[in-house]
Amino acid sequence: MKAHVDKDTCIGCGLCPGIAPDVFEMEDDGKAVAIVDEVPTDSEDAAKEAESSCPTNAIFVEG
Ligand code: SF4
Repeated sequence: MKAHVDKDTCIGCGLCPGIAPDVFEMEDDGKAVAIVDEVPTDSEDAAKEAESSCPTNAIFVEG
């Protein structure tokens, strides 16, 4: 499973690292980024929850 953040859409609310800290992190630019190329199996549910919880639909999880 892959995770991606669209930085143009992210508003830096900080929600996704709180939900899936092993997958997302806030960067110095105030936007979130996916910190793993492949989402760890035990973080897949959290990554999907972050995707559906993102207020601007900036997260794409697939695979
Ligand atoms: S939940 Fe969405 S808007 Fe909030 S920091 Fe993550 S990607 Fe950005």
